[in-house]
Parts: sequence; C-alpha cells; structure tokens
Amino acid sequence: MPVLTKLLSLLTAGTMLISGAVYEAAPQHDADGLLFLVNRQYTLSASYTPEDLEMSDVPGQVRRMRPDAAAALKEMFQACKEETKCQLISISGFRSYEKQAGIYSRKLRSVRKDVAKAQEYVAPPGASEHQTGLAMDIGQKNKAHLEVSFRDTEGGKWCAENCWRFGFILRYGEGEEWESITGYKYEPWHFRYVGKEFAKAIHEANVPLETWLIDYRIKTMQDMIGRVPIAATPTDLE
Ligand SMILES: [Zn+2]
Repeated sequence: MPVLTKLLSLLTAGTMLISGAVYEAAPQHDADGLLFLVNRQYTLSASYTPEDLEMSDVPGQVRRMRPDAAAALKEMFQACKEETKCQLISISGFRSYEKQAGIYSRKLRSVRKDVAKAQEYVAPPGASEHQTGLAMDIGQKNKAHLEVSFRDTEGGKWCAENCWRFGFILRYGEGEEWESITGYKYEPWHFRYVGKEFAKAIHEANVPLETWLIDYRIKTMQDMIGRVPIAATPTDLE
C-alpha cells in the first residue's frame, strides 16, 4: 500500500510538472504576458482589455499602452531625438475590440465587402495586436503616416534598426516569406513591445514572432524534459 500511495503521489506530481511545463512553454497563450500572440488564427475575446493602461508621455495621439510598454516608448522616442534629431510621434496605441470592429466594418464597406482586400491592412476585431496594449503605430513628425514610405524616413530607419534596444520589434516585416507567416502586408510603422530580453533575441533571429515562438517553445520543452528524471528517481519508490 505505501508503494501505491507513493506511486499515486508521484503521478500527481508528474501531472503537475507536465501541465506547468506546457504553460511555461506556451507563452503565446498568456494574454497578460509579453509574448502573447495575436493574429488571424489566435484572437482575443471581445471582453479582453489589459488590466492596466496608461498614457505614454510622448507627442502624438492614441497614446494609451500597458505601463511597461508606455515607459519604453518614451525612452525610445527620446533616444531617437538625441541620436537623429528626429521627432517621432505616436499614431495609434491601445484600441478596444469595439473600436477595431468599427474600423473593420468601415473598411469592408469601402472595398465593397471584399474580405481579402479589407484584411490586407485592417485586422478583424479580436485579431489586432492593438487590443493587447503592447502595439504602437509610429510616425515621424510632418511626414506621411501609416505609409510604406515611413521606412525611408530617418525616423523610420532608426526605429527599424534600434527598436529592440527598448523592447520593441518590427512586427510585420517585408517580403512574401514574412507576409505568408504574419498574415499582414509590410507595416514599417507597427511596433510590438515584448520586453528588452525577448526583443534582442527576436531581432537577432530576424524572423516573424510566430516562427520565433515555435523555436522558443521547442527549446523550453526540451529543458523541461531534461528536468523530469530528477523529480522521479527509482529510489523514490522504495
Ligand atoms: Zn498597428
């Protein structure tokens, strides 16, 4: 009987370890984490709003973001000003599900209900990163906004090269390979906060967040598997 009890407790411990491992290796499902994945496949519910939002202290509009992202944005804009003399501005940060639904239905009407056309740039409600409070559309003062030409502005170039230093990544890169994975056309203005540690790694990998997350999960699971035998050695059964 004691052996059976021990076996049962080991089984319970094993199950807990495995479910913990799965959770740790699945940061893309943690809406309040930094690696939450939002795209056309992984969507947010209509009721999701970040617990905390604050105005980023930067010039521009729609400045609300999650506090860590808002602080990082300010740091990034200041560094750009110091290093290039360019003034960056915020164009669009946090956006609620309802707001996204409104934008989407207007876009759909403007392209005569051509869903594929509408979705090239406008995400359906629930599929926009802006609902996480971690995304910001950035522009340069007195330049065209939300246009591919942002890439060629001094501010746009600086952002693409330096955003990772402040915890941001360029979320929708250029080229067929990126677009087929992210599901979005190239958006040189859209930056996503993931925190400094992850941003550096993702920038160095130079792949879409979707691809990087798969590699990250495999590595995390391998680490977990390596740890399992330590918790269940044969001597525990004696
Ligand atoms: Zn955006």
